[in-house]
Amino acid sequence: MSRFNTLEAQPKDPIFALVDLYQKDENPNKINISVGAYRDENGNPYVLPVVKKAKQILLNDPNANHEYNPMTGVDSFCKNAAKVILGKDSPALIEDRCATIQTVAGTGALKIACEFLKKTKNTPIYISNPTWANHKAIIEFSGLEWKEYSYWCQEKRNLNIDALLEDMMNAPDNSTFLLHACAHNPTGTDPTKEEWKKICEVMKKKNHFPFFDCAYQGFASGSLENDAWAIRYFLEQGFEAIVCQSFSKNMGLYSERAGYIHVIVEPSSNASEIARNIRSNLSSITRSILSNAPNFAVRIVDIILSDPQLYNEWIEQMNIMSGRIQKMRKLTRDKLVELKTPGTWDHIQKQIGMFSFTGLTVKQVECLIEKFSIYMTKNGRMSVAGLTEKNVDYFCKSVDWVVR
Ligand code: PMP
Repeated sequence: MSRFNTLEAQPKDPIFALVDLYQKDENPNKINISVGAYRDENGNPYVLPVVKKAKQILLNDPNANHEYNPMTGVDSFCKNAAKVILGKDSPALIEDRCATIQTVAGTGALKIACEFLKKTKNTPIYISNPTWANHKAIIEFSGLEWKEYSYWCQEKRNLNIDALLEDMMNAPDNSTFLLHACAHNPTGTDPTKEEWKKICEVMKKKNHFPFFDCAYQGFASGSLENDAWAIRYFLEQGFEAIVCQSFSKNMGLYSERAGYIHVIVEPSSNASEIARNIRSNLSSITRSILSNAPNFAVRIVDIILSDPQLYNEWIEQMNIMSGRIQKMRKLTRDKLVELKTPGTWDHIQKQIGMFSFTGLTVKQVECLIEKFSIYMTKNGRMSVAGLTEKNVDYFCKSVDWVVR
């Protein structure tokens, strides 16, 4: 008998399970708004033209090879990526107090971050309620504990800033808070700048440690600068921080796994030395988990980041993506209002990033799946990128039906 005989199958990931069901569904009107991946105006995956150009450049490079990289990744790539998120004039970069290594996209960055936190801090990580489901799994698999802080007010469909601040005040001093840098998943609702300032103030008072997850830079507002505002503001206030950076969404490199982790050290006379030691620890953690991160996608990223012309094309194409999502938000909201669908729908237009937390109940979502072949997660989150001008009417009429 197999030594694995007693092993039970694990529940399928709810999002990938929905994608499976969607693919098997024969309804010609079916819609997939479950997975957080951009779709073009015809509902197809989008390879950014600038990514195609960069791939060609890489292909034509006579010096490109498949040798092992250092475990940290390529130094110049790390520096260029850090500039995207921290800003090219970032004091942390100029003063050489940011430890950066290449990771397996954003998820890999979070994993390395948790292992690093276990080694250096080993206290619970506070996550927003709700949050991206994988946050809990990554933290647990790293042997750490998570606790939740308040985030969402279901009644007002908005951020519950008072409850959030109260939870931060009540957490033990020097706690770690995992913060979505922008385009909060699943709620599509970020703190305003004024609210970030309040969060910063409380975190300072309590000596809390900010651990930023930034998977959607550029997707929330269309501007890399605006979407990194919270991170940069915290650093200006003198915080040390971890920043997990993903290029999966903003360059459409989902399965290629491009990302970085940055650990920023507070200013001091030996900050550079501390950063070097942190980088060596991040590197040794990486060694034991995966040796070194894949190189193909970060080479594409770096070709784009290093060439001003390609960089501008990237920004334009990112704007096309975020602009189309914003347009679909408005169309959806307007159509639901026109149909006089019971309830308020302004939040669909107000929310940002890839997702909208619609407020639909589990029962209503189940009905959308079963009766209308519209696949979205049970918590009422929809990936707005899955809507197009061709399917938005069908979507809104179906929502109207389930809500009544
Ligand atoms: N953080 C959040 C909040 C996310 O939504 C995602 C992707 N769904 C990630 C991190 C990780 O993305 P990836 O590993 O594809 O870069």
